[in-house]
This record gives sequence, structure tokens and C-alpha cells, in this order.
Amino acid sequence: MREFKVAILPGDGIGPEITKEAVKVLNAVSELFNVKFNFIEADIGGVAIDKYQEPLPEETRKVCLESDAVLLAAVGGPKWDSTKPGAKRPEDGLLELRKLLNTYANLRPVKVYEELIASSPLKPEVVSGTDLLIVRELTGGIYFGNKGREKDFAFDTNLYTVSEIERCVRLAFRLSKLRRRKVTLVDKANVLETSRLWREVFLDISKEFDDVETEILLVDNAAMQLIRRPSTFDVIVTENMFGDILSDEAATISGSIGLLASASIGESHPYLYEPIHGSAPDIAGKGLANPLAMILSSALMLRYSFNLFDAADAIENAVEKVIQNGYRTPDIATKADKAVVGTQEMSNLVIEFLYEDFKKN
Ligand code: NAD
Repeated sequence: MREFKVAILPGDGIGPEITKEAVKVLNAVSELFNVKFNFIEADIGGVAIDKYQEPLPEETRKVCLESDAVLLAAVGGPKWDSTKPGAKRPEDGLLELRKLLNTYANLRPVKVYEELIASSPLKPEVVSGTDLLIVRELTGGIYFGNKGREKDFAFDTNLYTVSEIERCVRLAFRLSKLRRRKVTLVDKANVLETSRLWREVFLDISKEFDDVETEILLVDNAAMQLIRRPSTFDVIVTENMFGDILSDEAATISGSIGLLASASIGESHPYLYEPIHGSAPDIAGKGLANPLAMILSSALMLRYSFNLFDAADAIENAVEKVIQNGYRTPDIATKADKAVVGTQEMSNLVIEFLYEDFKKN
């Protein structure tokens, strides 16, 4: 039996509630797919500041580095929203963790479920069928370049090396082969030298993948096309700042933050998996949180860290079935929805459909 060590970081707010549910689903997977997960829980964020005066304590770093993958819920909350200079913030723990794991690419799948199409701000006929993946470069570019400020000017430097671009673009092409085999590069090559380098590298690497369709869009056009024809995209690859903006635009298309998962991939394991939403302090402890983004993040972990493709598909199918059968947590429910359920019931339903599907196949 294959065994995997998983670092579990529940964090703050709704984090512990949704983490518990994801672990329940993973335990069901373990039973069905003959794998074993050894979970080790550690503190991050506000809860870690309270206990250790550090948002990412040494013990947590050790647990993460010794694991095969890291599953994180969310950090932050009003209790730690101090504006005092030098005060430690829960969110610093996240940045430190990404640095520690050296994750260079952030993957954000956005899938629009037909049954939830009314939650999208776009027209149903435009958004129908949308199922895309944004691969955002995460450790280079203008956010990390040399920056400075003088009395009457300021500057930020956008710098990319060929190898930084290559690893990200190659990852996007590889991922497209697990999907619909299309990669769109988003750049600003009409203005930026860094973008011209991205384009050159992209075109070079595309030759290694002649069975993958390619498309290149300038970022301003991409922002428009994402809302005009979202369903035509498969994998979108882009630099850090463009990816930051476009991934939030794409998330909005789905209309439900409680359903969106992410993966951060590094040169070596462990990789990091987390929902894109925050700690939702407004609903923490009330049993109302939607656990699906966390459960879907664990599906990404099975696929990208452990190569357990069938198990990952099974979780995603079970989530789809739950939605098709009309079950909703309050964040995705409309007035017409009758089966409004809480956090625990939602994950129990996912597990029920997992078993049901397994029996059928
Ligand atoms: P948020 O994502 O926590 O919440 C925004 C809204 O969405 C809230 O109304 C919340 O109730 C709802 N929501 C979010 N996730 C939900 C879920 N799973 N189920 C049901 N409803 C859900 O964003 P925010 O309110 O801006 O931030 C709250 C705290 O989270 C802040 O301290 C912020 O810094 C932190 N934050 C953390 C992360 C992270 O850990 N990656 C990301 C974003 C924000």
C-alpha cells in the first residue's frame, strides 16, 4: 500500500472546520483506493502567533519540509489586524511558507458548474462550459524585482530569467496534456521586453508539444476575452502580476469563492494546496462554511503530488454530483434552493457519492 505524509495546516477562522471535512474525505479515499495518508497537524497564522509569537513557527516549518504535501486552509482575522508597526500578521505566515517551499507556479482551476450558472455575473450562454486553469508564475517579476522610492519618483523592476519562464511554460504545456491540450500565453509583448522574452521562450517550448494548440493574447485583450468567451480557454500561462489580476477575474466568473481550489508547485516536493478564499471570520464556528474548495484542494493534491488520478477524479465527480443533486451551503444557495446544508453535511454527502460511484464502477 502506498503511504503519504500530509502536513495539515488548519489556520484561523473557518480553517479548522473545513480542514476536518477534507480529512474525512481523504480518509474515505484511503479506504477506497488502497492508499494511506499520515496526517500531521501544525499551526500557522493567528493561532500560531498566539501560541508561539510567530505566524510560521519552526516546528511548522519542520513538519512541512518533512511531508510529501502541505494542505492549508486559511489564515487571518480581526483579532490580529493590528496596524502597529512591526506587529506580526497571520498573512506573513503564508508568504513565509511559499518562500520556504519555493513554489514557483500557482495553479488555479476555474470550473463553472451548470447548476450554479446563475451565481455567475456573466450571461449563462457565455459562461456555460467554462473549465480553465490559470498557471501563474509566482516567484519572479515585478513583485520581487528591485524597487525604490525617492522624494518625487518611485520604481519597480520587472525581471525574468529564461529558466524562470521555461519551467513555468513547460509546466503549463504538461498540464494541458492532462486536459484539453490548449495553452494560451498572456503577455504585453507590444510594450514590455520581459514579455517579448516570455513569447520567445513560449514559442520555443511549444515545438516540444506539437499536439497542443497554442494561442497568444496581449493582457488587455485577455482580460476582455476572459469575460467574452471564458469557455474557449483551457490552460492560461502568464507572469506574476498579470496572473494575479487575471486569476481573480477568472474566479469571479464562477460566482462562488467557496468552490475554488489552488495548488502551488515547486521545483521539488512538498507542494502546497489551499482554497483561494480567506478565513471568513464572519461565519467561523457556525457550521455554515462551504468545505468544497478545501475538499477540491485535496483532490489537486492527489493529482499533482501523488499521481492518484483516479482518486482525484473521484472526489471531483462526487462534488459535481452533490451540486447536481441540488445540495447547497448558504454561500451558493439561492432562494429557490431547498436542500441547504451545513459544513459537515456537505462533506458527508461528498463521501456518500464517492462510495456510490465506487460501487458502480
Ligand atoms: P474571505 O475569503 O475570508 O471572505 C469573503 C467572503 O466570502 C465572506 O463573506 C465569507 O464569509 C465568504 N466566504 C469565504 N470563504 C467561504 C467559504 N468557504 N464558505 C462560505 N463562505 C465563504 O475574505 P476576507 O473577508 O477579505 O478576509 C478574511 C480574512 O482572511 C482576512 O484576515 C484576510 O487577510 C484573510 N485572507 C486569507 C487568505 C488565505 O489564507 N489564503 C486569503 C484571503 C484572505
